[in-house]
Amino acid sequence: MTKIFCIANQKGGVGKTTTAVNLAAGLAQVGQRVLLVDLDPQGNATMGSGVDKRGLVLTIYDVLLESASVAEARVKSDKLIEAGCSYDVLGANRELTGAEVELVDVERREKRLKQALEEVRKDYDFILIDCPPSLSMLTLNGLCCAHGVIVPMQCEYFALEGLTDLVNTIKQVHANLNKDLLIIGLLRVMFDPRITLQQQVSEQLKNHFGDKVFNTVIPRNVRLAEAPSYGVPGVVFDPSSKGAQAFVAFAREIVERIDKM
Ligand code: ATP
Ligand code: MG
Repeated sequence: MTKIFCIANQKGGVGKTTTAVNLAAGLAQVGQRVLLVDLDPQGNATMGSGVDKRGLVLTIYDVLLESASVAEARVKSDKLIEAGCSYDVLGANRELTGAEVELVDVERREKRLKQALEEVRKDYDFILIDCPPSLSMLTLNGLCCAHGVIVPMQCEYFALEGLTDLVNTIKQVHANLNKDLLIIGLLRVMFDPRITLQQQVSEQLKNHFGDKVFNTVIPRNVRLAEAPSYGVPGVVFDPSSKGAQAFVAFAREIVERIDKM
């Protein structure tokens, strides 16, 4: 059965998009059929997958406003096809900023994405949704259609504080809107084992959240940061880098977890 996962954390710049594109590429590499949905007007997941957000005719915005279907709006990136590591992209650009306002008066507005994905879910093993850094209507649309949330986080003191808000939001969505929703796991990203505070926070996370903390740790790795400027995920840009290898290992961990779910 298709699994739909949100990559979410309302804190900005924590590594959501990097996780989304590299997990998509990692899953594709281990033979999974993947759709990556960009739910952020910044369009970083779109660009980071080699799709020019400015050239898109149809985007997630049209899908949310029901002027296009996902089948019409999804695209493939030539760069990823060339690399033999292809997944589909439902892209986003600045236009998406308007959706929030335009959906205000619409009934069941938080269920728009869920409805739209119904018709294509059979085409995929995984649908990954890159959420914006907020707990907005857009993020809510993601949470309403997902089976679970993957939370990338840096092991810093304030990271734990922000986690409480996210966990509460997920609980509320679970109680009121989507009974399927659960936290799949917390992913430690941009990890630097030489920093004592990061080790301490990592330990706290494991004590508090137990096996909800993924075994795979994503190191701080400059190749992952360089990749977007070439329009490919780090996994494709430099497969031998520590960051790329960690994301492929993470993709395998996700597939294993799903088998046990
Ligand atoms: P936003 O909240 O704006 O959507 P985000 O949570 O999606 O941000 P990213 O865009 O993935 O975060 O990452 C923020 C910055 O950190 C980017 O410049 C990215 O290249 C860099 N980065 C992410 N992960 C790593 C890593 N493991 N090692 C080094 N740099 C990283
Ligand atoms: Mg992002």
